[in-house]
Amino acid sequence: MEFFVNDQCIGCGLCAQMCPEVFHLTDEGVSKAAEGAVDGSLEASAQAALDACPANAIEKR
Ligand code: SF4
Repeated sequence: MEFFVNDQCIGCGLCAQMCPEVFHLTDEGVSKAAEGAVDGSLEASAQAALDACPANAIEKR
């Protein structure tokens, strides 16, 4: 599973706090997800960040 941050991100930083292995804030002040498939051991925390994002800015496929 791969995660993406769309342009609705408001840069709150929640995802980077919840799952720093996958999400980080860029110099532009928005979140970016690690490229490529997420390690299985991280999927639950990445999914939790997706569910918690206040802007519905995290997608997966
Ligand atoms: S939780 Fe959502 S709005 Fe907040 S930084 Fe992450 S992607 Fe952006």
